Amino acid sequence: MDMKPTHILIALFSTLPYLFAASGTKAGVAKVEITPRGPIWMAGYAARTKPSEGASPIWAKALALQDSKGMTAVIVTTDLIGLPRSVTDVVAARVIEKYKLERNQIVFNSSHTHTGPVVANNLWIMGPQEPVQKRIVEEYTNNLKDQLTTVIGAALGAMQPAALAFDYGEVGFAINRRVVTPKEVLLDVNPAGPVDHKVPVLRVVAPNGQVLAVLFGYACHNTTLTAEFYTITGDYAGYAQAGVEKAFPGATALFMQLCGGDQNPNPRSKPELAEQHGAALAAEVGRVVKTKMQPVTGRLKSVYQTTELPFAPHTSEQYTKDLQDKNVFKQRRAAAMLALYKEGREPRKLQYPVQVIRFDKGFTLVALGGEVVIDYSLWVQRTFAGERLMVAGYSNEVACYIPSARVLREGGYEAVDSMIYYGQPGPFTEEVEPRIQEAVTKAMSRVKK
Ligand SMILES: [Zn+2]
Repeated sequence: MDMKPTHILIALFSTLPYLFAASGTKAGVAKVEITPRGPIWMAGYAARTKPSEGASPIWAKALALQDSKGMTAVIVTTDLIGLPRSVTDVVAARVIEKYKLERNQIVFNSSHTHTGPVVANNLWIMGPQEPVQKRIVEEYTNNLKDQLTTVIGAALGAMQPAALAFDYGEVGFAINRRVVTPKEVLLDVNPAGPVDHKVPVLRVVAPNGQVLAVLFGYACHNTTLTAEFYTITGDYAGYAQAGVEKAFPGATALFMQLCGGDQNPNPRSKPELAEQHGAALAAEVGRVVKTKMQPVTGRLKSVYQTTELPFAPHTSEQYTKDLQDKNVFKQRRAAAMLALYKEGREPRKLQYPVQVIRFDKGFTLVALGGEVVIDYSLWVQRTFAGERLMVAGYSNEVACYIPSARVLREGGYEAVDSMIYYGQPGPFTEEVEPRIQEAVTKAMSRVKK
């Protein structure tokens, strides 16, 4: 290629933001395609009546980070609805054994795409009920466990010196979806409801200036594509990652779903809107990556702990009654609950995972389990205002929605109805909020020690 001096100058100048400052930090990144090989039941909408038809690629990716003392953490992202513990526990156990890591050094996140395959027993009440379809999901899940183990190993094996930097962008397509009326809480658009439009971005650059990885997140359901779409896709988050990878050739883009439990993309329900939201997010991430950004340095520490979230009291009588309900999903949940009652194992609380991964300077990832509503993220950001925060939901286990006390008081889908599809008993008590706040506070003080 013929390069005029001005072009060379521009080429040099365009790499300036990534000038390498040696800090002893290392990083490795890897990705693996996890697109189902054939038709499979899709996750996220109870209204679906048949398996998928066609697919565009979806991915699992791993970003391994290491401080100058050799302390490591691996962030795994997936273009999937939500990983249950039956997947993450197995993969974590394998990785712990094989690579001598501890559980607190691995975090799994799901993008919550609603045009992805069903994974294991996640949302099983609305999943396939026929043996053939169940077997396809089981095969997919077993393969996925191998692929996740492999991709983590590949990221660890690719470790090289890297400069990390973190900053925030902002995009506006997420909207609060809970419309509280005197009669009920509707799933619609609520421009007055709480949102968080921030886009946290972690940039990973090699000594030669090459952008190796871009980790970014957004708090918004990955549901531009609604129940009538049967093609496997990563939805807006899939398009956003593809867009960032196109803008930075050779880089791997990883998307984390933040606390988007009560947030929807707006507008939605058209394929071109998923592309449009993805493009908007990719453009903003790209803009941030090209700025100077704040360096991430110092010691890396990680903490993983669980806290118990209490379900509201329930009795076998109410589920016996639900067996006669017109709603088939309520019937299924009731049958499952009664079976557990019979064994004396009816669930009274949820073991809830809270994880924090933190560099001394510049980056703190708070990763919460479940479909976390935005109130929790806003609380973390208010309470730990001095931290450079990325507050993710959908991490390590997605067992159900995680409503705040406010959302529980208001009621509606995230508080009550969604529990049916997850096969969980009735709502939580308002105690969930102080329990989670306490767990985050404790984890935060442990990583800061
Ligand atoms: Zn959801």
